[in-house]
Amino acid sequence: MTPGPLHFAHETLPQRVRFAAGGAADAVAEEVGRLQASRVMAIASDAARAEPVLAGVTVAVLHTDVVMHVPVEVAERARVVARDHDADIVVCVGGGSTTGLAKAVALTTGLPIVAVPTTYAGSEATDVWGLTDDGRKTTGVDRRVLPEAVVYDASLMLGLPVASSVASGLNAIAHCVDSMWAPRTDPIDRALALEGIRAVTAGLPRVVTDPWELEGREQTLYGAYLSAVAFASAGSGLHHKICHVLGGMFNLPHAETHAVVLPYVLALNAPAVPQLDARMAAAFGAGSALAGLQRLREETDAPGSLRDLGMSGVDVPRAVGPILEAAPPSNPVPVTAEAIEALLRAAYDGRDPTRWTAPVR
Ligand code: NAD
Repeated sequence: MTPGPLHFAHETLPQRVRFAAGGAADAVAEEVGRLQASRVMAIASDAARAEPVLAGVTVAVLHTDVVMHVPVEVAERARVVARDHDADIVVCVGGGSTTGLAKAVALTTGLPIVAVPTTYAGSEATDVWGLTDDGRKTTGVDRRVLPEAVVYDASLMLGLPVASSVASGLNAIAHCVDSMWAPRTDPIDRALALEGIRAVTAGLPRVVTDPWELEGREQTLYGAYLSAVAFASAGSGLHHKICHVLGGMFNLPHAETHAVVLPYVLALNAPAVPQLDARMAAAFGAGSALAGLQRLREETDAPGSLRDLGMSGVDVPRAVGPILEAAPPSNPVPVTAEAIEALLRAAYDGRDPTRWTAPVR
């Protein structure tokens, strides 16, 4: 295949990224020093996990009031704590929920963030914030919430339970796959996404086999970072829109929902974009992207159906309308009510996606 002419505009988000297995404390101290800050507001869901990471800095306050999806009142409490302690920087140590709270503080105070992630969620590499008010989630984009620096220390993830690691790792694969056809995608996003698929596919099965081995954790973390950078630039494709609707309407678990839905979105879209499918297949090391994803899901004993995640079958038709409204026009195949309902049914039942053919007009 001869590549066509290149015509795109790509924006790279400014951020320092460090990989420092076993060295988070020194790296955090250096990054705080570089930013000439001296009064750290530390945010962590788990104080015991965070304290060793904070050993090299002066902590003005350690704030552990972290709640999933950042309810507005939790955000407001954290902002008051930042003001009361005269903080000049936020250091967050935790998963996407912890990073999300640090972003909520930065959004109104302008304080810089040094992020130390402990899951594969990838929020630390995006300028997207999210807040929940009365059960409704609002998201927005603001450069103030992009962490100034990220310190990845895979040793902090050794205790992340295997099932959570698998769901979180497949969430990263979903960022990569959706980045191949998302509304603002470009060749740079695709290159990052393909390397993300390769790294997570290499790392995640090792996490399952030996959760206490550093190398598998680190490869998965590296892939998760790439996946988030690609996703931040490319935007949300059909897969993320589906999961956002399902998560919001039925309160399904974030990472697990991604893990279940992704193969059906691949089965729907990949046949329409054979060149992208071939590139993803190569990154998975398989004959097709779907075969590669299914092999990874089998090796890691991934969650299998929306029913298992607690969704009710009668809710399937209710989700179709909101998904159609949110579906991006850039999707490789037309997004019809018939296709989405069939996809949701298949994901609800956990049918074998390699034997499932989407009704595409
Ligand atoms: P999470 O942060 O809620 O963490 C899940 C659980 O794992 C928590 O109980 C936490 O304490 C625990 N945990 C975290 N790290 C651990 C470790 N190393 N060892 C043991 N336990 C650990 O979940 P998540 O999946 O990381 O994040 C999900 C949230 O992040 C969602 O709200 C999602 O919307 C958001 N998110 C935002 C973006 C963005 O760009 N803004 C991107 C991805 C995810």
